[in-house]
Amino acid sequence: MKRVQITLVSDRAHFLASPQLANVATGQEKVSQVTTHLNKLVASPVKIEIDRVIRISPKDKIIHTAKTDLSYDFAIVAAGSTINWRGLDPSNTRVIGCKTATDFLNVNERMRESLQAADLLLRSTKDSKPKITSLCTFVIVGAGPTGISLASKLRIALTEITRSKYPSLSSFVNVVLLDADDRVLTEFPQLSGPVRDELQKIGVELLLKTKVSGFGNSELVFEDATSLGSENIFWCAGVKRHDFFNQPALEQIGDSTLRHFEHREIYIVGDCVDNLPATMNAHCAVAQGRLAASNIVADLAGRKVGRWSERPWPLVIDMGPNTVALNSKGDVLKGRSARIYAKTARAKLLKEWMGGYSTWKLLVGEVLKKTSNNLFLDE
Ligand SMILES: Cc1cc2nc3c(=O)[nH]c(=O)nc-3n(C[C@H](O)[C@H](O)[C@H](O)COP(=O)(O)OP(=O)(O)OC[C@H]3O[C@@H](n4cnc5c(N)ncnc54)[C@H](O)[C@@H]3O)c2cc1C
Repeated sequence: MKRVQITLVSDRAHFLASPQLANVATGQEKVSQVTTHLNKLVASPVKIEIDRVIRISPKDKIIHTAKTDLSYDFAIVAAGSTINWRGLDPSNTRVIGCKTATDFLNVNERMRESLQAADLLLRSTKDSKPKITSLCTFVIVGAGPTGISLASKLRIALTEITRSKYPSLSSFVNVVLLDADDRVLTEFPQLSGPVRDELQKIGVELLLKTKVSGFGNSELVFEDATSLGSENIFWCAGVKRHDFFNQPALEQIGDSTLRHFEHREIYIVGDCVDNLPATMNAHCAVAQGRLAASNIVADLAGRKVGRWSERPWPLVIDMGPNTVALNSKGDVLKGRSARIYAKTARAKLLKEWMGGYSTWKLLVGEVLKKTSNNLFLDE
């Protein structure tokens, strides 16, 4: 009797609760509070390989990693997304792209260093106002959910830090949220107005209809050739499908069964799906992971496979005390009701997100007891 073998290949050893990352930037939470080691989430018979997948050879059914080659019967690709720099080059600049735990930790360090440096300058030199202004200007590019959450939480944290530690810097500190569009949260029009009002209430400066065309070392250059100096530029202007898909074998990606068009034993789920009506969020990634797992089972059992259909997901814009939410019925919530809803939604999200591995394991393990399979799972 052959055994089912499931291998989870991941280039990082932990699961990351990304909704909490803005709290790492403000120092409210440590990285250890927003990460969970994969060992704690995945139990035998799922094998964990901490390794980087370089390429898939669908003809030979082999996954080539940095360390080894793994053969598979079915592969689920959930490599996520990477920062979308929108054709700009951030190298040799101090711009921080906001995606991983390290990125948000870097934001926190930059905030502290900038305030310390500005404080020293203010005490020691005259005529250093332009430099102090640049050190105390915090620019977040991209007024989507991540940018809004980061801008509002930084604004609140900076107000507290300056009040308690650097009162003489309070008139210099400014948090600017910038976007090429003429409103915040363009993709969620119901929340755009309420979120803008809350941002203005806490003192975030909005710079809309402003498109970045380049980076200086410590400045942003705009399409109209004007610029904005800042030592603290944080890029939250979107993500794109992982570069992993640039390899020829994967170019033609999946259909609504989440299978690759040509190589039907490869499934593609989560943020790396970009040809289906699907939102890049955790709810969607979890639901697709489950569908891929049940489709593999259906495929082997000779049953009809299921198809992906997008549905409205709840949306929480975590702005600290000023949180705004859109529940699954489409109601806009603000104030206390939004905060209570956010807490419940987050707990539910983390539960289903982190429970995903065991669900797949059970689902696949139960039905495929007599078959040999290697699955490349990475969510
Ligand atoms: C700051 C931030 C806040 C967010 N807040 C929310 C929120 O509040 N609610 C919500 O629903 N969604 C939120 N999201 C979006 C959510 O995190 C993503 O939609 C979700 O993580 C997508 O899951 P995934 O499994 O497709 O990809 P990911 O979670 O990105 O996982 C992909 C994994 O693949 C690994 N990997 C990539 N390439 C390779 C390779 N070649 N070899 C091996 N491993 C590889 C990566 O290291 C990563 O661990 C947020 C995202 C960010 C960045």
